[in-house]
Amino acid sequence: MKILFLFIDGVGLREAASDNPINPEVCPHLCRLIENHCTPIDACLTVPGLPQSATGQATMFTGVNAPVFMGRHCEGFPGPNLRAKIRENNLFMELAKRGKKIKFADAYLVVTIEEIVSYRFKSVTTVMALTEPQSISTIDDLFDDQAILQDITRETIQDRFPDIPTVSPVDAAFHLFSLARAHDFTLFEFFQTDAAGHTQDYARACAVLRLFDKFLASLTRYTQAAGITLVMTADHGNIENMSEHRHTCNPIPFITYGPHEKEIRSGIKSLVDVTPAILKHIFKQES
Ligand SMILES: [Zn+2]
Repeated sequence: MKILFLFIDGVGLREAASDNPINPEVCPHLCRLIENHCTPIDACLTVPGLPQSATGQATMFTGVNAPVFMGRHCEGFPGPNLRAKIRENNLFMELAKRGKKIKFADAYLVVTIEEIVSYRFKSVTTVMALTEPQSISTIDDLFDDQAILQDITRETIQDRFPDIPTVSPVDAAFHLFSLARAHDFTLFEFFQTDAAGHTQDYARACAVLRLFDKFLASLTRYTQAAGITLVMTADHGNIENMSEHRHTCNPIPFITYGPHEKEIRSGIKSLVDVTPAILKHIFKQES
């Protein structure tokens, strides 16, 4: 049983509105998954205030209610206490402990892992990936099409790395699918959705969602044919309300598509349930 996990930053669920770019004209494939293969889940996690990335993502990948642990929603990059909590246990560690092959598909633009260790600011996924360094993808992997750039097409690095050719969303989807086929659990993080949400630029949000939707359309075709289960969720809402530059308290999608999709979704209510649902399901298939 193989899982491809897409973490899409800043995508919440909201009724159709003129300032909500998540609509069938912009992103038909995403809308179809939301319509037919999705359970709305809570990202506020009983703590007042707007949900934020550090605590939302830490919750997603540890199963611990990180806003409750920290006493508040924490933005951006996790501080020392939250990092320690992520290093204590997380989804990657649990999978590796049971001999699962894991891959963090986003390429770091470095040659060695030591360069990542020295980063002053580390995202939740970076802290988690460093607990299982074999999961990490470097610039050499990107050169070999064995990793994906966070923007999907590599356009954002053309000035720095003109030797790394751009790829279409369709080709990037095939690269990610190839990784998912070769590993038990593959993670891809896409944060351009959140970045666009913060700008309040509706046209930019539509462009990002159109690109992601092309990628998603190919990806779901490949994973379905190969019997790989796609799991997709967010850390908090943002892009679904372009009248607001801040995050939202809207529910977020928990999408599963492929073998056992309903079982994985059943009973899931908030970000706290994501890691337990994945682990329970992967290990249940073995017993
Ligand atoms: Zn976020």
